[in-house]
Amino acid sequence: MVPPVIIVGAGIAGLSTALSIRRQPVLLLTRGQLSRSGATRWAQGGIAASWLPEDSPEHHARDTFSAGAGVNDPVAVDVLTSQARETIDWLEAQGVAFDRGPEGPALCLEGGHSHRRILHAGGDSSGRYIVDALSDRVADRPGITCLEHAHVDRLLMRGHRVCGVRVRTQDGRIRCIEGTEVVLATGGIGGLFQWTSNPPECDGAGLALGIEAGAEPRDLEFVQFHPTVLKPGHRDVQHRLPLISEAVRGAGAFLVDDTGRRIMVGEHPLGDLAPRDIVARRVWRSYRDGNSVFLDARRIDSEWPQRFPTIFAICMEHGLDPRRDLIPVVPAAHFHMGGLKADLEGRTSVAGLRAVGEVACNRVHGANRLASNSLLEGAIFGRRLGLSLDDAVPVGADHDEQPLRQVGSDALAGAALSTLRSGIWSTLGPEREHDAMHAFAGRISADPILARSREGIVALAILRSAMARQESVGAHYRRDAVPAIADAQA
Ligand SMILES: Cc1cc2nc3c(=O)[nH]c(=O)nc-3n(C[C@H](O)[C@H](O)[C@H](O)COP(=O)(O)OP(=O)(O)OC[C@H]3O[C@@H](n4cnc5c(N)ncnc54)[C@H](O)[C@@H]3O)c2cc1C
Repeated sequence: MVPPVIIVGAGIAGLSTALSIRRQPVLLLTRGQLSRSGATRWAQGGIAASWLPEDSPEHHARDTFSAGAGVNDPVAVDVLTSQARETIDWLEAQGVAFDRGPEGPALCLEGGHSHRRILHAGGDSSGRYIVDALSDRVADRPGITCLEHAHVDRLLMRGHRVCGVRVRTQDGRIRCIEGTEVVLATGGIGGLFQWTSNPPECDGAGLALGIEAGAEPRDLEFVQFHPTVLKPGHRDVQHRLPLISEAVRGAGAFLVDDTGRRIMVGEHPLGDLAPRDIVARRVWRSYRDGNSVFLDARRIDSEWPQRFPTIFAICMEHGLDPRRDLIPVVPAAHFHMGGLKADLEGRTSVAGLRAVGEVACNRVHGANRLASNSLLEGAIFGRRLGLSLDDAVPVGADHDEQPLRQVGSDALAGAALSTLRSGIWSTLGPEREHDAMHAFAGRISADPILARSREGIVALAILRSAMARQESVGAHYRRDAVPAIADAQA
């Protein structure tokens, strides 16, 4: 039997990869149920593509560079923005029904975008529509086998090459499966932070596995914080905090503090639609100064249920009627621009191991991601990766003679995990400083259980990157940064 390509993760990146492989068997593994696990399902705002006659891929690229503070890889940005429209066509061909108006797709404006170019589906249920459609396609494709509730906790290696995965299935059994290539499409790291918009399975498991296999990480310090998630402690809001999408601010909502003062006035020319890092830090500082922050979205009024059905339902579930009430919000870890260094076909620095989607870093987002660019990233680079695997040359027989070994670490649980998460939040949150990061890294390293845990390995790697980058760039903000001369004079 021909060994399969093993894809770990069934969000938009893993699904797009799987659907683009035609000539090889595929084994698709997901930690939860197909279409129910990962961040993709929770995406509300939508997916960016230049569409209007006055817009263009070049404008989209300019906005992407501007959000990413120019740290972006120009070739990756060119691929992303120039292939956006054909990728929307591909998603539609897979059965994704984007919302349409009389003149074509309904387009929204989001923070950092110079034009209306966000396509959405089911109003604010874009991620759910996408993941449901792609999962249906995957389930129908004879060459793809899906294993649900399959938690990959080790990579298998022969010599320096990754050649498979160790999987824990729902019934507690452990299986070792070998494949021609292993693709990590495991999503981000939000679950490592005390406050996050991500579901718990986005906990850096794939990043930790890649690092332990020797794959080079890159730009780990760049973590995007979303400025508006529902405040914890509000009724039963727990670790994963419901997101109040930027599209709500795009529709006219604005941020106020407890005195009713608009907090983004005078902060940035785009005001409430300024890039996420700027808004998130402003909200964080309000809390630091003892003020709460609210989203005033009352002007959306009677259009709420139809325009933002998911967010409206979330608010109502939590006892808030956004047509009348202010929505209490905090910032939360949302998206990881850093990850395993990967080229435009997902190749990492380790043979046999590819990475795509949020776990990967090809620098398309630079130091900060432009809103609605990550679903696009998952679909575009997933497809490229899948097509390139179809052309991959089989590994030579001498590879099979090397002894099989397993790499990876166990996960934390309970109080140890909660303590680590709150330490990560306070030292690697929207504002950082060296001494606090250094002390926290020391505490992790001194505790052998923490230091050898999967979460501890990722935390230490991010701390090292965040300490090494001493200047503030994009989403990485150092309170103790030495100001550049121009800033100091301003
Ligand atoms: C609330 C929210 C709203 C967002 N809104 C938008 C938006 O409007 N537009 C936009 O562009 N982006 C948005 N994003 C970001 C975007 O959703 C994600 O970046 C993107 O979906 C990531 O896709 P992915 O395929 O890389 O990973 P995910 O969709 O997170 O999928 C990860 C997969 O990996 C699996 N997995 C993880 N670890 C393991 C393991 N050890 N073993 C087996 N399987 C594993 C999971 O089960 C899951 O199937 C949003 C994110 C959130 C959280």
